[in-house]
Amino acid sequence: MATTIKSALSTRNKEVYKKLSEALGDQLKQNVVLAPYTTFGIGGKADLFYLAKNPKELIYAIGTVQKFKLRFFVLGGGSNILVSDSGFRGLVIKNQNHMMVLNKNTITCQSGVSLSEVVELAGDRSLSGLEFAAGIPGTVGGAVWGNAGAFGKSMADVLISAVILTRKGEIKEVDGSYFHFAYRESILKRSGDILLSATFKLKKQDREVIEKKVRRNLQKREVRLPLEAKSAGCFFKNVMATDRKISAGFLLDQIGAKNIKEGDAKVSNQHANILINSGSAKAKDVKKLARKLKKKVKEKFNIELQEEVVYIN
Ligand SMILES: Cc1cc2nc3c(=O)[nH]c(=O)nc-3n(C[C@H](O)[C@H](O)[C@H](O)COP(=O)(O)OP(=O)(O)OC[C@H]3O[C@@H](n4cnc5c(N)ncnc54)[C@H](O)[C@@H]3O)c2cc1C
Repeated sequence: MATTIKSALSTRNKEVYKKLSEALGDQLKQNVVLAPYTTFGIGGKADLFYLAKNPKELIYAIGTVQKFKLRFFVLGGGSNILVSDSGFRGLVIKNQNHMMVLNKNTITCQSGVSLSEVVELAGDRSLSGLEFAAGIPGTVGGAVWGNAGAFGKSMADVLISAVILTRKGEIKEVDGSYFHFAYRESILKRSGDILLSATFKLKKQDREVIEKKVRRNLQKREVRLPLEAKSAGCFFKNVMATDRKISAGFLLDQIGAKNIKEGDAKVSNQHANILINSGSAKAKDVKKLARKLKKKVKEKFNIELQEEVVYIN
């Protein structure tokens, strides 16, 4: 639960917290447990937590923490992260920027909009292109950051321009090529830029055709993924060999991953690349399980699996 900033952590620089509290006001909370903000349902407390409801608040919060040289982290839907049991030392900015604007065949959304809302708006307005994203949890910000995708398509196929906040505090409009999108990669992972908004270019299509595609994709997801379980989706990236893509799930199946567990951290019976919190798993359990799986894959195939899920600590 959140408490007020008055009882700022004794071990931290109280003066910094006081100034931050003066700058950010009541929306700044202290000692907020992060687990409920993640789909894994795992994670300790953030020293400080701020709900940014519009771009002005998001930009101001980032500018303020940078001025005080405090660590920060922008949290979207929390569907691609594993937060450490000891939480986060610094400020977590929960992005709730939620505006969308439709203009002919484009939709521009602020980065805190959930991907499902954009998919829905596009369908309602007979705009095709985002059907692949139906059922992917999280926000536009997280999706662009990791070039989220499914069924052979990804954000790279639809994003034509965006507005970002650079590490130096500049607000820039950039086009799709700026992101250097690749499989689950974008420049945001390296640059530390923050996505403020994104514009997607779509195509006119019969509404029924779009809805049919969306329904089909959702059905496929239901069969393949443990949607009810607490997880962060695929834990490891697929392996890009020179001539083909090797599914991490396939490699994990071959080492018998589904029978391996660590406390309440388990491998889904439905999908070997999805690690789940089956009760009260800790981040340390999930990490230990991930290490075991990586070791076995390395021993059997001489392949080093890379995490798709981001560790926050
Ligand atoms: C059941 C399930 C199914 C899934 N299926 C898929 C799938 O099919 N395909 C797929 O690609 N992924 C899938 N995922 C993973 C996840 O949903 C996506 O990666 C999603 O795009 C993450 O968005 P988020 O808002 O939750 O990001 P978060 O988890 O909140 O954050 C992830 C990273 O993005 C950064 N970030 C967030 N917002 C911004 C911003 N505005 N600017 C800069 N950086 C930002 C964060 O700082 C963090 O480093 C699935 C997850 C679950 C739980």
